[in-house]
Formats: sequence, C-alpha cells, structure tokens
Amino acid sequence: MIVCGGGTSGVAAALCAARAGASVLLVERSGVLGGQLTLSGPPGFAYARLFNPRNERDVGGILEETYQRLYRSGHAQPHMRNSLRTKAGYAFSYVDIDWWIFLIFDMMEEEGVVLLLDTLVADTILEDGTVKGIVVENADGRTEIRGKVVIDCTGEGYVGIMAGCEHECTDRDIIQPHSLSFTVDGVDWEEFMQYFRDHPDQFSYKQLLNPYTDNTREKVYDFYSKSHNPLDIGEFMGFYELRDFALDNGDWHPYSGAGFFLMPKEDGHVQAHFQHSSQVDHTIPTDPWDVTRCMLECRKQNRIAWRFFKNYVPGFEHAYITKQSTELRFREGPRIMGDYVLTREDVVECRQFPDTIGKTSFRAGAYHVSTMDTLSAVSGHKDLGAPKDGGSYDIPYRCLVPRKIENLLVAGKAVSAERPAYLRYVQQTMVTGQAAGVAAALCARDGRTPRELESDVSELQRILVDQGAILYETKP
Ligand SMILES: Cc1cc2nc3c(=O)[nH]c(=O)nc-3n(C[C@H](O)[C@H](O)[C@H](O)COP(=O)(O)OP(=O)(O)OC[C@H]3O[C@@H](n4cnc5c(N)ncnc54)[C@H](O)[C@@H]3O)c2cc1C
Repeated sequence: MIVCGGGTSGVAAALCAARAGASVLLVERSGVLGGQLTLSGPPGFAYARLFNPRNERDVGGILEETYQRLYRSGHAQPHMRNSLRTKAGYAFSYVDIDWWIFLIFDMMEEEGVVLLLDTLVADTILEDGTVKGIVVENADGRTEIRGKVVIDCTGEGYVGIMAGCEHECTDRDIIQPHSLSFTVDGVDWEEFMQYFRDHPDQFSYKQLLNPYTDNTREKVYDFYSKSHNPLDIGEFMGFYELRDFALDNGDWHPYSGAGFFLMPKEDGHVQAHFQHSSQVDHTIPTDPWDVTRCMLECRKQNRIAWRFFKNYVPGFEHAYITKQSTELRFREGPRIMGDYVLTREDVVECRQFPDTIGKTSFRAGAYHVSTMDTLSAVSGHKDLGAPKDGGSYDIPYRCLVPRKIENLLVAGKAVSAERPAYLRYVQQTMVTGQAAGVAAALCARDGRTPRELESDVSELQRILVDQGAILYETKP
C-alpha cells in the first residue's frame, strides 16, 4: 500500500500500517518527515491537548509512543499540567522537533517502511472510479507506482482532488490567514520573565478560559504574576502597550498580534518560536500564485515583527534568529468529503459513534483573522463551541473514506469535516493517520475496499486499541 505525504498523519499511517502487517511505501515531496511539524514549524505547542478539560487523556497510540520514547531519551518535556492549563484543556507536552525527526526515521527502519523522498505525487492511476496507484515525479522523471490501497496524507488533500473526490474549501474571502514561522535563540529569560511578572495584564488570558471550568481572568493574571519559568506559561501573546506604542512609531504592522511560543531544546535551552508574527489572508493553499504572494508578504511582516521584539521587548536585546521556515503554515485548506462529515454539533455535543477510531477535545470554529486581534478573534464567532462539559468527541472511520472514489483513504488535515469541525491539530492528524494505516493494511490483506470495511470495523478497532489508541473511554 502507498502513503502519500510524510507529515504527522503520513508518518502515523505508514508506521501503523506496517505494524498491522502491510508492506508500505511512503512517498514524500521533501527530504524530511513531519510536514507542518518540521518543514514549516514546529507548531507552537507540539504536542498539545492530549487531555480534555476534565483532565482525562483522550489521545494515545502512536502519538503517545513517540512522546514516551522522546521523554525517556530527554527530548520531551513532562506534560504541562498546572491547574489552569488542565482546566482549559490546553496542556502542552513539548517534544524537541529535531529529535522527533531522528526518532521517526529510526521507527521507519524498525517497521520496514520503504521511503521514497524528494518525490512528488503528481497524479493518481484511476480506473473506473478506483484508485490503482499513483504517478510520481522526481529526479528520475515520471513513473507509475501501483498499490492495493492509497492513503492521502498530503495535508491539503492533493491526491483526493487529483482523483476527482468531492471536496470543500472555504472561500478566498474568508479563509483563515497563513503564517511563516521563525525561531529565535539568545533570549535573556530572567529579564523577560521579570517584565512578564510585572505586567501580567499585558498578556492574553482568553486561551485559558473554558465555559465548563472556573478559570477566570483574575486567576490567570495571578498565575502569570508568580511565574518564573517560561515553560510553565508556554505562550506569550499580547504585549499590548509595547505593540501599540511601536505601531504609533511605524514599528509594528497591523496584520497580527504580537507573541511567541516556546521550543525547549537540549540541556535546558529554550528557544522562542514565532508563528503569529505574519498573517496573510485571501490565500488558497492549492493556488501557487496565492502561496507565492503570501510567502513574500509574510517575510516582510516577520522582519517588522522581529525588529519590534529586538527593540522594544525586555530580554530580546541580544537574541537572534536561528531558523526561518521554508514553507508556509497553512491554517486552512481543502477537506475531502467522506461518507460522514463531522459537524460542529458533533463537537459541541461530544458525540460518540459506533465506528469511532479515536477521540479529541479541540473546540469547534477557532478561526484566526489577519488583524492585530487575531488571537482574541478566535472567541466570538458563531461557529465557536467547546465540547460539552469539557468532554471529548469521537472521530468516525467514515470521515476517512472519500465519497464515490474507491481504494483511497484520507488522513490528516483534509479528512471529512465541516469547516467548524476541521481536524487540523497535530494530535488529531496522528489519530486519523494511525486509523487510516491500520484500515488500509486490513483492506490490502483481505482484498476489500475501505468502503467495504465500513460494514464491520470491529477488527480495525481491536487493532487500534491493541496499538494503544483511545477509542472508547477517556483515561484519568
Ligand atoms: C500557524 C500554524 C500553527 C499551528 N500550530 C499548531 C500547534 O501549535 N499545535 C498543533 O497541534 N497544531 C498546530 N498547527 C496545525 C498542524 O501543525 C498541522 O495542521 C498538521 O501538522 C498537519 O498534518 P498533516 O499530516 O495533515 O499535513 P502536513 O503536515 O501538511 O503533511 C503533509 C505532507 O505531505 C507532503 N506532500 C504534500 N503534497 C505532496 C505531494 N503531492 N506529493 C508528495 N508529498 C506531498 C508535504 O511535504 C508534507 O510533508 C498549526 C498550523 C498552523 C498553520
């Protein structure tokens, strides 16, 4: 079987398919695995949200295994489980992305996954509505590769679109803005944290509120004012007065709020990671002209943002940029419509499904906009909704099975969901990747199509549970 795309979903799919007995080829356009986690990241909070606001664990499986392996080797932080974070359902479980890459290449070797890197999937081989394989382009030219089942893990659903699957993408006028991230070293954390403690009200607190818990603005500010270790906070968004002062001086741009996340490295070093310093809207990820315009504009905005941090923010005087990403971080792209479409109601009602393949607790409708309010703009939209009582909802297997086209599964960002229920976070992409991998292995073994598997998912679910996935009961 063939996995197209080696991001977090593709990695999970390939490893778990191999463990379920399939011979697996993973085709990746770049030379590294991890996709948005590594090529355009790391994301500010990778990994995160492995616990819901009831402090119950809802994600296990391959994600948990990679976390534990990195933790044991000193390349992951303990789960951040202070009471504010826990109640918000927004706990970080940092992994060092450079060591994640080492680990994943090791695991590919352990499981016997065949890798084909620097290779673009350029088309599908389609016969009577059934995907029989893919067409790839690389330094060798253009080649056909046939496989029993194909999984689209390209993030933007490119393979599904090439095969003619029904898909939706938010209109250019309202699509969420995309960003280009960069990472910084050399911050004087003591000086910075002194400023933070002295000015807690200059920072965003809304990300730690949840309608089903008793976190308040006052509690958040009180916590901020007593914090010494930046890793206890995780993200620093706001800098309101400094930012507005800079704006008046022509030293800030009006397209995003100011702030950064953290990237813990070896030997206790902590980098600052900026993924909100540039924001460009009206960009459809599958339109290369849009993407080029967005990339050029993001670079300009990042330079302005960095000048602001160097010149205005205590602790940044001697800091320096260590990495600018080479790819954009796409906040929104196509979704391939499947036999079930996950809805906002499913999220807010914490629905369970007989064909569950995993769980998640990320709220619905958390959209960004390219204004300085970007981070607070995630509250207030009509689509926004937190899962009921701080619980978790199921992801049904049918969301991975595209309508009409046979022999194709989709995992990762592009699985079938309404816009508010978009499943784009790293933990969600690894849950759907793991399930798609095992499902494809069963289909390849039995000569069934992914759609035929829908009639009885009991073996799929049993193997997923055996692999450590959380399908039914969340765990304390
Ligand atoms: C600004 C921003 C911040 C974010 N922050 C967080 C965060 O803090 N925490 C979090 O959990 N999530 C975060 N996310 C979301 C998350 O990082 C991504 O949605 C997730 O990593 C996507 O995983 P994926 O496997 O679906 O796709 P991707 O990571 O996009 O992987 C797709 C892979 O397929 C490859 N590919 C694409 N097309 C082809 C082709 N034709 N042929 C071959 N290979 C191909 C790509 O090179 C890539 O490796 C953030 C996203 C953005 C935009």
